[in-house]
Amino acid sequence: MSKKLLLKNAHIEGIRYFETYRKHGGYEAAEKALKMSTDEVLEEVKVSGLRGRGGAGFPTGMKWSFLAKPEGVPRHLVVNADESEPGTFKDRYLMEFLPHLLIEGMLISSYCLGSNVSYIYIRGEYSWIPDILEEAIEEAKAAGFLGKNILGTGYDLEIYVQRGAGAYICGEETALLESLEGRRGNPRLKPPFPAVKGLWERPTVVNNVESIAAVVPIIEIGGAEYAKIGVGRSTGTKLISACGNINKPGVYEIDMTITVEEFIYSDEYCGGIPNGKKLKACIPGGSSVPIVPANLLLKTINGEPRYMNYESLADGGFATGTMMGSGGFIVLDEDQCVVNHTMTLARFYNHESCGQCTPCREGTGWMYKILKKIEKGEGKMEDIDLLWDIQRKIEGNTICPLGDAAAWPVAAAIRHFRDEFEWHVNNPELCLTQNYGIANY
Ligand code: SF4
Repeated sequence: MSKKLLLKNAHIEGIRYFETYRKHGGYEAAEKALKMSTDEVLEEVKVSGLRGRGGAGFPTGMKWSFLAKPEGVPRHLVVNADESEPGTFKDRYLMEFLPHLLIEGMLISSYCLGSNVSYIYIRGEYSWIPDILEEAIEEAKAAGFLGKNILGTGYDLEIYVQRGAGAYICGEETALLESLEGRRGNPRLKPPFPAVKGLWERPTVVNNVESIAAVVPIIEIGGAEYAKIGVGRSTGTKLISACGNINKPGVYEIDMTITVEEFIYSDEYCGGIPNGKKLKACIPGGSSVPIVPANLLLKTINGEPRYMNYESLADGGFATGTMMGSGGFIVLDEDQCVVNHTMTLARFYNHESCGQCTPCREGTGWMYKILKKIEKGEGKMEDIDLLWDIQRKIEGNTICPLGDAAAWPVAAAIRHFRDEFEWHVNNPELCLTQNYGIANY
């Protein structure tokens, strides 16, 4: 059984409220951190090896150490709660059921970074959660854990919740900052990076909800103990939101030593695939990461089991591996059609493109049109090569990673499932009545 750090108290009734959270050890890590120097807190986070849980997996302690500290200029922590990646819903779970874990993590992190005003930027569709967070903020304030002179230390912190308006692109950190400043959420060109010029041109750290919540157990048990959990550079625990063709969809906390096979088939996690169907493929890190067929999902090309961690999922690079990403684990059984699935994703990225740069604005729409044609049985063989060519021209040629996020699913689908694309071209009449999966397994 995986060790639980973030969700260990999630089952306790009323844990959402300050009194219950406090009764079960809540805010003890904050009390401990506020007695440490900010450098000592930073050192614990660095030693823990915590990697950003939003998708990129960049070491959090290193990110914090890049924060510029010009004399007299305020600094900010902004929590990225714009969780909009299809298949990813673990931050929603944290905020809805354990809001004080996030607030406590923000208190420790803000103290370490020297932020006196911090923000939670939350996606517009999570319409019921800002009230939960604001209630938790008020409770923490009433108990002396937020506001002026916290616990008599002289440290002040205010936290504000800002609702987004339903744009996926605002999960990109610079688009988020633009939106937080009251403008359209268009990504900024980097450099300068937010650590130097972020919110209102002030040094800013933007971190995902889960990353900030993880700071609480790091301070609680110490960075070195945290680093002993997991394997290699995949330290600590990771939340995975599992969905698709599985018996037990939900949010699971894993310690990154379990295999993909165990995660899918064990009763502790996904509980297998309904109706005894075969596993066809999986997207393990949210819709942007490459889809992997079952044979490469359960084993690496070297025949080693594939593990649920950053290194093992990426083993073999994009040709045979994938990414941990945001931990949005989407399972496809044998009946699913990869062309249809890829078309759905292409429509999403086309809809969410902010339109600033040509390869993304034009390319995502073009890919969607071609995929729609192929899926309906109206495509030609050369369309598959054209699709491949378009995604190659998007990747790496855009202002922000949405371009890559739109290109990778198409590339992986063609690389691993070209036969399905060709079946659609060769069987136009069948495309109208059944999908590839049902027709061929
Ligand atoms: Fe906008 Fe797409 Fe360019 Fe990102 S890659 S800036 S979403 S057009």
